[in-house]
Amino acid sequence: MADQIRIAFLGGLGEIGRNCMVLEQEGKLLLIDCGLMFPDADMHGIDLVLPDFTYLRDNAARIVGCVATHGHEDHVGALSYLLRELSFPIFGSALTLGLARNRIEEAGLLGKTDLVTVKDGERRRIGPFDVEFIPVTHSVPHGFATAIHTPQGVILHSGDFKLDLTPVDGRLTDLARIGAIASTEGIRLLLADSTNAEEHGHAPSERDVGAVLRAIFAEQRGRRIITASFASHIHRIQQIIDAAIANGRVVATLGLSIKKNVRMARDLGLLRVPDNKLIDIDAVDDHKPEDLCIISTGSQGEPMSALALMSQGENRWLKVGEHDTVILSSHAIPGNEFNVNRVIDGLLRLGAEVVHSGVADVHATGHAQADELKMLLAIARPQWFIPIHGEYRHMAAHAKLGRIMGVAPSHVLQCEDGDVVTLSDDGLEISGRVPAGYLYVDGIVGDVGNGVLRDRKVLAEEGVVVVVVTVDRETGKVLTGPEIITRGWVYAPEADELLDEACDTVANAVEKALASGQRDIDVLEREVRRAAGKFVSERTRRRPMIVPVVMEA
Ligand SMILES: [Zn+2]
Ligand SMILES: [Zn+2]
Repeated sequence: MADQIRIAFLGGLGEIGRNCMVLEQEGKLLLIDCGLMFPDADMHGIDLVLPDFTYLRDNAARIVGCVATHGHEDHVGALSYLLRELSFPIFGSALTLGLARNRIEEAGLLGKTDLVTVKDGERRRIGPFDVEFIPVTHSVPHGFATAIHTPQGVILHSGDFKLDLTPVDGRLTDLARIGAIASTEGIRLLLADSTNAEEHGHAPSERDVGAVLRAIFAEQRGRRIITASFASHIHRIQQIIDAAIANGRVVATLGLSIKKNVRMARDLGLLRVPDNKLIDIDAVDDHKPEDLCIISTGSQGEPMSALALMSQGENRWLKVGEHDTVILSSHAIPGNEFNVNRVIDGLLRLGAEVVHSGVADVHATGHAQADELKMLLAIARPQWFIPIHGEYRHMAAHAKLGRIMGVAPSHVLQCEDGDVVTLSDDGLEISGRVPAGYLYVDGIVGDVGNGVLRDRKVLAEEGVVVVVVTVDRETGKVLTGPEIITRGWVYAPEADELLDEACDTVANAVEKALASGQRDIDVLEREVRRAAGKFVSERTRRRPMIVPVVMEA
């Protein structure tokens, strides 16, 4: 009997983001990614959502490291939170670690971790784990798939990937290596990115976007060009720079993350731009507008980003007008559509021309579509298959592709956050559960629970009614009040009559309870809530939060 392997899914199976998985071999734990998720509009006031760290905290001493597959926030963004409590080395490409490092450094936690750079194709031991780093193409350079050679055979984790056959840097997804593993050791279990499993065909190459950008730049001669894209999308930034220079423009970056990433990518030799073509944003006025290309942050419509401020005419460096063309070389992440649309509206109102992925092919996805996923399945020929990274529907579509491509239906497992699977001589089975709920971050701490969120939802949608009444427990009389303070239920200065009536109703209820001998403050508060709630509901058909405060004199 070979040692069995356990895998716990802490996030990313059932949502886009929060990717985090734990492998267990010989009593040791290896993390694959530890990412964050951006909140939905109904998560009031939440900045970020993290994986539940309970399982990791409870097993802290057994963690030997974390593999960071690539530098996107949904894969490395939660590390700076986890490292506050735990300490372990992180393995990834130089760029991945450079991107992950920013947040870790901001949190003052660099001393708590070793960042270990690994190269394409490198194979190394991390504790008992025999880990091989296989190059993949994606919307950030230098991502890895991970092959873990275990006593139960090879587990291949695709990471986020696409099969871009003409990547901007020529670094292909190493299908040959995956095929070689498949035909020698064999692939026991494949875990693969499901984000685009519902999209048929093959994703366009990143290089195609370059051609579109060059054509738009040529068309827009005589106008200032402002572009926005993900700050980590180094290849997109390269293609924007190339299009700009080919059309006689100089380039300036706007926004801290783009500036930082451009510097880092140049240092790493991943981004090529001559010094004399890159100018500081402070120097844009030294150039004619038609000779400029600005690369800005804010492609997701983030409210305080450079582009969002520009769309409101509030950017310090640039005033957008009718001589500008703005290219959003991006696609809104689910949940951000509203903000992106608002930015586009703002720019159009200012008179700018706006080019976005809805009107021109200025963006290509970084995730494999159905044909690419089938290709990976055909080459890997896994014995077992678990779709990961996606909403349930994406994983379901991917599971179907697995069956189409010949994985035995009983060997395709659709798992969800919190599932634990065990791979043994007998095969793969779901064997348990670990906590995997959402950890909501507001400000700097993740102590916002579902109760707080429910309260915020009611407050945001219905408002609050606070009812204060003072009673004398000796005499059983109401001494002062009830007084009603409300926000968001009715506009108090214009609702005197309604509020007076509400006070009378509550006073009656309290007096009745007191007359019947009731003196318990908790019971009296319940009575206030009931009476106020009934009144509010009957008279206004609204359901604000009712906060009863009964004090004794
Ligand atoms: Zn990614
Ligand atoms: Zn991802």
